[in-house]
This record gives sequence, structure tokens and C-alpha cells, in this order.
Amino acid sequence: MVPALRYLGTACGWARGGSPRGIPAACGPALGRPRPLCQGSRSASTSSFDVVVIGGGIVGLASARALILRHPTLSIGVLEKEKELAIHQTGHNSGVIHSGIYYKPESLKAKLCVQGASLIYEYCNQKGISYKQCGKLIVAVEQEEIPRLQALYERGLQNGVQGLRLIQQEDIKKKEPYCRGLMAIDCPYTGIVDYRRVALSFAQDFQDAGGSVLTNFEVKDIEMARESPSRSEDGMKYPIVIRNTKGEEVQCQYVVTCAGLYSDRISELSGCSPDPQIVPFRGDYLLLKPEKCYLVKGNIYPVPDSRFPFLGVHFTPRMDGSIWLGPNAVLAFKREGYKPFDFSARDITDVITKSGLIKLVSQNFSYGVSEMYKACFLSATVKHLQKFIPEITVRDILRGPAGVRAQALDQDGNLVDDFVFDGGDGVIGNRILHVRNAPSPAATSSLAISGMIADEVQQRFKL
Ligand SMILES: Cc1cc2nc3c(=O)[nH]c(=O)nc-3n(C[C@H](O)[C@H](O)[C@H](O)COP(=O)(O)OP(=O)(O)OC[C@H]3O[C@@H](n4cnc5c(N)ncnc54)[C@H](O)[C@@H]3O)c2cc1C
Repeated sequence: MVPALRYLGTACGWARGGSPRGIPAACGPALGRPRPLCQGSRSASTSSFDVVVIGGGIVGLASARALILRHPTLSIGVLEKEKELAIHQTGHNSGVIHSGIYYKPESLKAKLCVQGASLIYEYCNQKGISYKQCGKLIVAVEQEEIPRLQALYERGLQNGVQGLRLIQQEDIKKKEPYCRGLMAIDCPYTGIVDYRRVALSFAQDFQDAGGSVLTNFEVKDIEMARESPSRSEDGMKYPIVIRNTKGEEVQCQYVVTCAGLYSDRISELSGCSPDPQIVPFRGDYLLLKPEKCYLVKGNIYPVPDSRFPFLGVHFTPRMDGSIWLGPNAVLAFKREGYKPFDFSARDITDVITKSGLIKLVSQNFSYGVSEMYKACFLSATVKHLQKFIPEITVRDILRGPAGVRAQALDQDGNLVDDFVFDGGDGVIGNRILHVRNAPSPAATSSLAISGMIADEVQQRFKL
């Protein structure tokens, strides 16, 4: 595992020279407020914005919201390829408000998670969004896990996580009567929430403040518009052209990209580096049958394997009262491939040829095989779960939904551990900021990340 490749570094090259085009101002005058893409028009339409955010997941929406609240006179647009917002990672996750215990002290993940958890609770309180601060136990079930558990506890204290306690068997039983374990970290600050609901509320705040959200807008090209006699005054002010798969265009001055599973491809589109590559890891969940949900009160997590960024299969209560068990971590054969047999030749070719996946697999072959085996055979996952709650049997569970994680991988096969935010040099590079790696706990950290992005945009683009 490696630390963040770059934090707001300078990695982009010059933008690819796209075909210069005169861009007609199709939707009204160019003033500070956004002019939405002409709805229903089948011909190429244009809109112009001071800042465009690509990606309508929780990170993009939180960032757009932070930008417009800080700069109310700017026109800001969010471009999202789907019909609806926040349906990928943001709508397919465990829904845990992480406390910040796991992450390397002083890392962005540690700082932004601790800060972000407190901001999410505060935001939910303000907006009346339901959450449950149901706590979490990280449980050691084998003697050999205890030193790692104690080290994790120390790390949590260093990170300033509130209320942590190391507890023994009898206290585990008081908190989770059906859970067995030798020792546990009691983490009362952990909670659960529906992150899609939070993200939609960010979108609402953004629109209420005058922002525009354009859905069904799949970005296919990002380039500088070249000088041309046919260019309108508008085009001079908004020199970046973003084109979608339908040939529609948006012009802007600055871009922030938050494209989750496609963050590498969007970076490449803008002439910036495709590295780190995104490797999609599917996480399947199982569901505890309703009559067995009494077995789990709060979150129960294993002691994580420090070689991997995944936290291990865990028991997670949901806001609707159900209990999810998972997720595992298996290579997905398609970005946004939620079913085991979803396949994309391009995605898999990219992963094999461009990323360091082969090195990763060769270094962690047995781990990968065991995750695949558990994904195929429920009984193998149940055997793992029984280490924590012996009462659970195969008859008590059902197959549930899945999520796909955007995991950045460097050329040497190292999983990129920290959040990566990356700008660049050159024509577009000076006008663009990429969120390259925002894996878990980026939902928890979204408000803290958005504050940092707003600071950087303000400083970098001199807004
Ligand atoms: C299985 C799983 C469990 C997780 N559990 C937790 C948890 O418990 N707690 C936690 O804090 N975090 C968790 N996470 C992590 C968290 O969900 C993500 O870090 C977070 O949602 C990332 O948000 P995002 O906005 O970067 O990405 P996304 O939500 O994936 O949004 C990216 C958006 O960009 C859009 N996009 C992509 N390409 C284009 C394009 N060309 N044009 C226009 N739009 C485009 C996509 O359609 C998408 O809407 C989990 C993730 C997974 C997968």
C-alpha cells in the first residue's frame, strides 16, 4: 500500500487539441447565473458556467454545494451521466458513519473522516435527516488478533476519535448479547445513515442556492475551445468545452471532477494522467432474515487485515431495520457491474494492461481466491460470520445487493490508500481539479472533503 500519490500536485499535461468550434449561445444571456441546458432539444445545446463539477455522487454534490455557498455569485453546474443522482457508490454502500479509527494518523483519510463524521451528524440534525448513532464493536475472536486490536485502539486515540474503550468478553456480551469475542474496541461514535438521502439533500441545497444539475449528461470530451472568428463573447469567457455522448456542450471556466469509478478516464479525457487507474472491486452483501435481526444490535466488525484497505465482512444495521452482512471484495469484471457476471471487455482489458493488477494478484493470490470462494459459496461466508455470532446458520441468510468500489491502483500493484486530489499544469490542467481516489470513508468525509476542495478551488483558480 502506498500513501497518497499526490495532494493537489501538478501532473497534467497539455490538453489535447480538440476541434475548435464556434459555440452558439443557445440558452439566453451570459450572466452570473446558470442557464440550464435546453430541455427536450435534440440538437447540440450549450450552457455556460463559471465552474462545472463532473459527477453527481456524494463527493461531487457536497463540493458543488460548498462552492456555491461560498461563492453565491458564481454560476455552477453539476453534470451527471445517469438519469438520477447518487446511484453508484453513494447509493450502494454500507451506510456507516465511520469514526476515523482505522486510518494512518495525519493522513487525509484520518483527518477528513474525524472532521467529516462530526459534520455529517451536525448536517443531519439541521436537516432532520434520520440517522442512528448505534455504535460499533471491532471484535478480536482469535488470540493472535489482540495485538493488532490494541494497536488499532492506540491509532484511534491518536486520531482523536471520541469515546473509544477497549472492552473484555463480559462487556462485549452487554453490548451484543449474541456476539462472542476475546476483546473488542467499543466505538460509540459510529453511526448509520442513508447516504443517498444525504447526497440528495446536498443537491437540494445546491439548487436552492442557484446551482444547476444536468442529469443524463455523460461527459465524453473535455477540451479547450480555440480562438476562432465565429467564437461568441461567451466562448472567450468560458474557454473549456465539455461535450457529452449526445453531442451537447457546456462551456465553463473551471472544472472539478468527482467521477468515482470513472475518475481515471475523466482525467485522461482532460489530457491529465490516467494514473492511478481505477480497479473496480465488487462487494456483495448478504441479508439476515427479518426473524433473526434480533441477533445484531449495532455494527460488528472484524479486526482488519492491515494489508488491504477493505475493512472485512461486517454486520451492519440499516436505517430500515434490516441487517446487512458484508461486503466481501472481489474483482468486478465491469465498472458499475453489480452482478457477478456483468462484464465489459474494455474495463477488463484496461485493468489487465494499464493497472498494476497482475502484480497485486500475484502478491495476494490466496486472499483473492478465498474472497472469490466466499462469494460463490454462502456456507464459507457463514463460517466466517459464525466466529462472531455462532447462532447464525445458512438458513438465516439471503443474498442481498452489491456495491462496486472505485479502488485506485498504482503501476506497481499497490492499492492507493489515501484520498488523492490532483490538479495539473498546462491549458486545461490549470483550470481543473480531479478527485482521483475517494474510497471509503469518503461518504462519511464528504462535507470535510468539500470544504477542502472549496479552499483549493478558491486558491488555485483565484475565485
Ligand atoms: C460496497 C461499498 C461500501 C461502502 N461503505 C461505506 C461506508 O459505510 N461509509 C463510508 O463513508 N463510505 C463507504 N463507501 C465509500 C463511499 O460510498 C464512496 O467513497 C463515496 O460514495 C464516493 O462518492 P463519489 O461521489 O466519489 O462517487 P460516486 O457515488 O460513485 O459518484 C460518482 C458519480 O460520477 C458519475 N460519473 C462517472 N462518469 C461520468 C461521466 N463521464 N459523466 C458524468 N458523470 C459521470 C457517476 O454516474 C456517479 O454518479 C463504500 C463504498 C462501497 C462501494
